[in-house]
Amino acid sequence: MIYLDNAATTKPSSEAIAGSAFAMTQVFGNPSSLHGLGIKAEKLVNFTKEKLAAALGGQPQEIIITSGATESNNLAIFGLAEVYGRRRKKIVTTAIEHPSVLEPMKRLAERGFELTIVKPNENGEITEDSLVEAVDENTCLISAMYVNNETGYILPIEGAFAKIKRLYPDCITHSDCVQAFMKIPFKAKSISADAISVSGHKVYAPKGIGALWVKKGVRIAPQLLGGGQQSGLRSGTEPVPSIYSFGKAVEALTPTINERLNHACEICEYAVQKIREIPDVVINSSPEASPYIISAALLGIKSETILHFLEQYSIYVSSGSACSKGKKSSVLEAFSLPRDVIDSTIRISTCTSTSYEDIDELCKRLKTAGETLAKIKK
Ligand code: PMP
Repeated sequence: MIYLDNAATTKPSSEAIAGSAFAMTQVFGNPSSLHGLGIKAEKLVNFTKEKLAAALGGQPQEIIITSGATESNNLAIFGLAEVYGRRRKKIVTTAIEHPSVLEPMKRLAERGFELTIVKPNENGEITEDSLVEAVDENTCLISAMYVNNETGYILPIEGAFAKIKRLYPDCITHSDCVQAFMKIPFKAKSISADAISVSGHKVYAPKGIGALWVKKGVRIAPQLLGGGQQSGLRSGTEPVPSIYSFGKAVEALTPTINERLNHACEICEYAVQKIREIPDVVINSSPEASPYIISAALLGIKSETILHFLEQYSIYVSSGSACSKGKKSSVLEAFSLPRDVIDSTIRISTCTSTSYEDIDELCKRLKTAGETLAKIKK
């Protein structure tokens, strides 16, 4: 199998699997129980909060465990707007966000917030200035992702958030860092973020687990009410096996972030060069994009047709993003890509174990797809 859909989800690491099996078999207590087994379970939860906090450059008490980045983004947007949007009614985001950011933002707009959606310019770039200029003294929240999940485009949040915090210290900055976390070295401070969303299944942990980091001193209104777990910020019995698994996955990745990034850069450079040799191919990702994601179009052939063609050879890629199953990509539209390019785009997303041979095989099959599927083209 050649798995090139790592931006959709990753194969759980051996550390993650061992972590969840350990928690399920040995430490099945409820972290809220006062007896020894409960305390042991609580320790596993705390272990993960420590690992996540260390990876993001924060404190364990600043981590809220969630069911994934969709929940983290919803919690961040609704929870921060509830606290900071009582008087200041402007909110800002970008047109290339994941739906789990865009949809809550739109919901807030329906409830009376004034929403500004920053779009990429004609060069397909969201400039630092366009983000800063969208914010004013009435803005309570800006949410901008770090790495776009469909093209790998890196948003200039590092510079923009720093400027925004200097000009408007009361504006809360949130970033969906799902596609950057454990891939591109960054810290909460280096991107001037007040809140950061991450997801477990993009970093070799299981699906259904994620986290929201919220800077100490920044208040957030809980959106799930109940038993008061996690200091009342996210009620619900903590899923200890998934949580511990997430912590173990992050712990295993931490020492190799630069090494893995270098590998991704080398593979990406090789892949782009090889893909360019295939006739009628357009590469959508810019050279500055995350090296983990390559968005490319095999003109004249529908994305899904290419995807299923490759699947016959056990090569797995995505059409656009896995989240937008069957739907036209609004992100690619926002980047102003021509219709024919959007219709033919596939996303190739690599991981540590992606080899040059995998890329050779992919390109060989893509070339055949171009030749044999060409008949269906018109
Ligand atoms: N944000 C981004 C950028 C993503 O790529 C994804 C996953 N497709 C999410 C949020 C949602 O994450 P989860 O699947 O953990 O809910």
